[in-house]
Amino acid sequence: MTTITLVQGDITRQSVDAIVNAANSSLLGGGGVDGAIHRRGGPAILEECRALRASRYGRGLPTGQAVATTAGELDARWVIHTVGPVFADSEDRSELLASCYREALRVADGLGARSVAFPAVSTGVYRWPIQDAARIAVETVRSTDTAVEEIRFVLFDERAYEAFAAQAG
Ligand code: ADP
Repeated sequence: MTTITLVQGDITRQSVDAIVNAANSSLLGGGGVDGAIHRRGGPAILEECRALRASRYGRGLPTGQAVATTAGELDARWVIHTVGPVFADSEDRSELLASCYREALRVADGLGARSVAFPAVSTGVYRWPIQDAARIAVETVRSTDTAVEEIRFVLFDERAYEAFAAQAG
């Protein structure tokens, strides 16, 4: 039985088994939630990301996929990095955004994580409209078979929180 919860706040402050990062495919850090996770989590996360680039993901982590590292100094045990699609008017990339949530949960299951916090992937620099992103996120996690007991969406601002609340309510 999986429970979906919503919180307005900073994902780096969450006490959960795994925190999902809206990374970019380089895995070498960026702005937004990615920057916040690396800042608070410390250098151990970046070290593992670099090792992943040198081994499994020489060309970067493909959009829609997910991979775990240590969470460094964060409360969580793991950070699960996923790469959201950049929003495009010319092309429907919804399946790639849904894949981020599905793949992150698959990785979480592999780790044995019981609680997972997600940001609103692709809704910052990648410009995905928040209402649509919220619908895809909530529909996807609801229809994914997982042993994760709590899926917590952590929304940075009130607008994002309201959009997710409208979907999850
Ligand atoms: P993307 O490149 O996937 O769009 P961003 O990090 O730019 O990723 O934005 C994704 C979402 O994360 C945005 O809604 C942004 O407001 C939010 N965000 C930024 N910092 C944090 C944080 N510390 N905790 C939770 N959400 C955050």
